[in-house]
Amino acid sequence: MTTSYIGLGSNLSGSMVDPLHQLNRAVQRLSDHPHIYEITLSSFYSTSPIGPQDQPDYINAVARLNTELLPLQLLDYLQEIESEHDRKRQQRWGARTLDLDILTYANFEIASHRLTIPHPRMEERAFVLVPLLELDAEFFSAQGKSTADLLANCADQGIVKL
Ligand code: ATP
Ligand code: CA
Ligand code: CA
Repeated sequence: MTTSYIGLGSNLSGSMVDPLHQLNRAVQRLSDHPHIYEITLSSFYSTSPIGPQDQPDYINAVARLNTELLPLQLLDYLQEIESEHDRKRQQRWGARTLDLDILTYANFEIASHRLTIPHPRMEERAFVLVPLLELDAEFFSAQGKSTADLLANCADQGIVKL
């Protein structure tokens, strides 16, 4: 059994459902899987977009889960859930109904065509680090930096707990 952290984000409504409901529904879909267990969800946060600024603010959260799925199997399932939520891949870092990223998978380090773990940009994103710190105050990056230290470098990023 492996512990994995998943980053969740949404800033567009889909199928008449707003971003907050989409994140809740995504967590429900995670818990539906027979090989995903013990999901713990952080608070939800309202955050400023990275990349293109002409898009709505995001709602973000982080989930910790235990799973018997292998990393690519977990990615497949996350992408299946994104598709169910009408996720379209258009502009890079553009608005989306649902984004599910694998942040970490135990202490694995993977760099493959489809999957990089730990997520290569997680350490520079307050919308990942703040909810992660909430779930695991002891979290250290692969380079041995604490979440608190990493957060000091993104103090300028807008994030408000809902
Ligand atoms: P970012 O990765 O900067 O957060 P994004 O989430 O908007 O950007 P996507 O368009 O959702 O990027 O994903 C592009 C591809 O990234 C996916 O098709 C997937 O194969 C790949 N990918 C690589 N590493 C990961 C990871 N750790 N979690 C999720 N997807 C990943
Ligand atoms: Ca992402
Ligand atoms: Ca993604």
